Order: sequence, then structure tokens, then C-alpha cells
Amino acid sequence: MNNRIPAEPKKPRVPYSNDHESITLSVQCTEESHADRPWLIASFYVDFDAPGGPMWLSSTNYWRNDEHVAKIQDDARRTLVGDEVVTAERHKSEPDIYDNGSRRRYSFQCKICGLSIARKAAVVEPVFNRLAGAGVSEISLSALAAILR
Ligand SMILES: [Zn+2]
Repeated sequence: MNNRIPAEPKKPRVPYSNDHESITLSVQCTEESHADRPWLIASFYVDFDAPGGPMWLSSTNYWRNDEHVAKIQDDARRTLVGDEVVTAERHKSEPDIYDNGSRRRYSFQCKICGLSIARKAAVVEPVFNRLAGAGVSEISLSALAAILR
């Protein structure tokens, strides 16, 4: 998967509920060493219909100002049991794997310059809420790292 901006972005289906205003937050790396080719790290949207109330989910579609920019990998938001990342395949083969507890973690990494940061969901998601509340829909990894520090 290549997380660079394609020449001709395609418009996909909007991944969030039709009943609510769309909220997305995207993270890209724009470090000086590759400022001419930003790396699209991750894109998130709020699922308002989640069973426990609204929650952030990661998307394979990178959003910028409600426009679809590119298809990306959505491996930034991870669920762990113990210290192990549980993949979708693993969850499929072991549906009850979360029964004894799990935790969510966000891991952002630029595949060009290697800048990376990982934080638990309890730290990241309130920041996402604040950013979204302030109307921010895209942030650079370095700016996000400064906020999460
Ligand atoms: Zn970078």
C-alpha cells in the first residue's frame, strides 16, 4: 500500500452515519526532509452509532476537508490483549479473544522519515475530540506529537 497522494484521487462512499454530521481527523507527516511529498499516516472518523457511544475508528480512506484524498492502510489504531496486537484475522478466528480485557493504542509512523509516536487511546482520543471540536480535520504528526507530549 502506497500512502502517497495519487495523481487522481477517487471519491469513495462516505464511511460514517448519514444521521450525523461527519467528523474526520487525519494525520500526515510533513517533515522538512520530505515536505514536497507528505506521507498520509492515518485517517479517523467518529462512529456515532457505536454500542458504547460515539467512538473514533480508523479508516482506509484518507480524508481532507471532507474530500477523499487516497486509500491508505488503517493500522494506526490497534487493539491489544496483553502486549500483543490483535489483527482482524486473529479476531475472526478467536471471536472471544477480548473477553478477558483488551486495550486500544494508537501508533503513528511516517514510512518516509521514520518519525513515530505511540500512545494509549485514553490519551489520544480526548485530544482528537478537542481538535475536532476546534474544527481541525488534519494535523501533522509533529504537531500531534507536540500536543501528546
Ligand atoms: Zn515523515
